Formats: sequence, structure tokens, C-alpha cells
Amino acid sequence: MPVGFYIHIPFCLHKCNYCDFFSVKYDEERLNSYVGAVKKNLRRYPACCADSVYFGGGTPSLLSAGMVYDILSEIDLAENCEVSTECNPSSAGKDKFKGYLDAGINRLSVGIQSLSDRELKASGRLHNSDEAVNTIKSAYSAGFENISADIMLGMPYQTISSLRETLDRIVSLPLTHISAYMLTVAEDTPLASDKALLSASADADTLADMYMLTCEKLEKAGFSHYEISNFASEGYECRHNLRYWRCEPYIGIGTAAHSCYNGKRFYVDNDIDSFINSSEQNEIIYDEAPCDDNERIMLALRLKSGIRAAQLDDELMKKAETIAKAGYLEIKDGIVSLTDKGFLISNEIICRLTMNC
Ligand code: SF4
Repeated sequence: MPVGFYIHIPFCLHKCNYCDFFSVKYDEERLNSYVGAVKKNLRRYPACCADSVYFGGGTPSLLSAGMVYDILSEIDLAENCEVSTECNPSSAGKDKFKGYLDAGINRLSVGIQSLSDRELKASGRLHNSDEAVNTIKSAYSAGFENISADIMLGMPYQTISSLRETLDRIVSLPLTHISAYMLTVAEDTPLASDKALLSASADADTLADMYMLTCEKLEKAGFSHYEISNFASEGYECRHNLRYWRCEPYIGIGTAAHSCYNGKRFYVDNDIDSFINSSEQNEIIYDEAPCDDNERIMLALRLKSGIRAAQLDDELMKKAETIAKAGYLEIKDGIVSLTDKGFLISNEIICRLTMNC
């Protein structure tokens, strides 16, 4: 069975003030050594054929095209393998995009977040709205046909009207996929202790309105709402991310990377020096029996394709019918799936359905 490889690149030019992902300040020499360790760890899986590879971070667009080529050379790539990289508008331009295409990347996920300069600045992003738009246009003119953009809902100073403007501009760009994530204020981030920024952030009701507006606008523009936070033109759903929701195997390489492989879930610790200097990354197992029936149901419900009603026992179906009457689930043609309203409070609905919450 093919696998997916996730490669974590934990370096950033600057820390955004809402970010709690594991990343450290970019250092060219350290990144070089880190790439060497990524290659070394990939060699532990010579028999794995990949039908998806995903470079995430951090800021993987700090990698040169040569580094990407070297890493991909260590992987047995299936024909038509989806090879994605996250891309930060402040660290990529047309020349790099051409190099990435030649190196084997065929899908970009650009972290736009917003097209309001005020919101971008308040969140500590290094790019402005023109740079974000130009990044997508440059990638497209360099030859990328499969481009995704990330936007964030609930950023400081964002309003329904500024979000509407961002969405209107975004749908006019050459995109095949859009991810829209709701900002959560994580502890120990600068945002969490900045009272002025927090008071300029949307309250829960406004955030819900923002989500519903995003669903409406993107669906109207032809993007299918295939997962809670993800929208795609037909045939452009992210194959790698679908693995996570379908309980298919993936192998994470690099600090803080997660895996579900060989019947176990594990993650790599955050120690960059140990990752660089050890013969194998330090993997910590946290689930020895992943993908049981309950987990499969929970993950499948994140997707618009939902689950077959036949997979639910009588007790679960009875609960599903009650929730459907309230408009949070749809039961149609033997499929049980969340509605947009259900996606908005998916954790609660899934919990009520599967765990008697
Ligand atoms: S670029 Fe991404 S990973 Fe890096 S600090 Fe900003 S949000 Fe976090």
C-alpha cells in the first residue's frame, strides 16, 4: 500500500504572534545539516512507495530547490505522486517556483491568511496583501497549476466586511484549493498576552458568522466544501491530507512530525540538534492501536463524504436522526454527513454522536 511522507521544516524568518507550532529562527547552516538528517531518516524506508509527500513547517519555502530535489531523490515516488509544499509569501518568488517545479513539487499551499494589511501586520506576518497576491500570480506564471491558499478567520481587526473583501479577491486568483482556519488563541503566544489585540479579535458569534460567510462565498465560487476547513475545485482535494482523515498510513520525518504507520501513532521530539546528530530520529509512540471503529467514524465525519449509514449501529443511527432534525447532520442516499452548520461545531456534534457527550 502506498504511504504519504510528511517532512517538517522547523525554521522561520520570524515568529508570528499567534503561532504555537514548533519552529526556531532560520539559520542557513543549521538548515543544511537538518536536510542531511531528513535524507538519512528517509533511507530507513527504502521499501515505501509514496503517493503523497507534504513539506510543512515552520517555513519549508526556506528550502532551496536543490535541497528539495535532494530530499525527493530519497523517496520512491509513485507515478502522479502529489508533492506539496507550504509556502510563505515572504520567502518565495518566481525563480524559486521554477526551481521547485523542476525539483518535483507539483502543489503549493500559500499562507496568505488575509488580504488586509492591517490584519497581517497585527498578526506579525512579514508579508502584505500585494505580496500575497503577487506570490500566487508568480507561482501560476512559473507553471504551477495546483495552488492552494490558507486564510484565517478571527484575526485581530478582522471584520465581516474585511473578510468579505479578502474572499472576493481570493476567489479571483488562480487557485484550486482554499483552507480557512479559525484562529485559536494558544497559551504562551504573544497574542495571548496582548489585551489590545485580543479585544480587537472577533467574539464567538462573529467568528461563527465569518465561518458561514466563508462557506457560502467559496461554495458559490465553485469550491466544494469537502472537509471542515477545506474547499477545493473538483478533483483538487489535497490527497495527502485526505490520508489523515481516512486513517491511511503516513510517515513523519523531522522534529515534531507525527506518523501513523505499522499500526502505531508516534511523533518525533522537538530537539533539532539531536535530530541532526542521531542516526535515527527519536520517535515517541503514543497510540499502539490507532484507527479503531470509533476513530474512523470521527475522522470520516470531518469529510463531506461522511460515512455510510450501514456502518452505524441502531443506537448511533437513532442519535444521528435526532441531530439531523436540528440541522447539523444530513442523512441522504445512505450517507451520514455534517452540514455547514454542523461543521461549525463539529467537535461537539461528533462527540455527541460517538461518545454520549
Ligand atoms: S510562518 Fe507559520 S510556522 Fe512560522 S511562525 Fe508564522 S505561522 Fe508559525
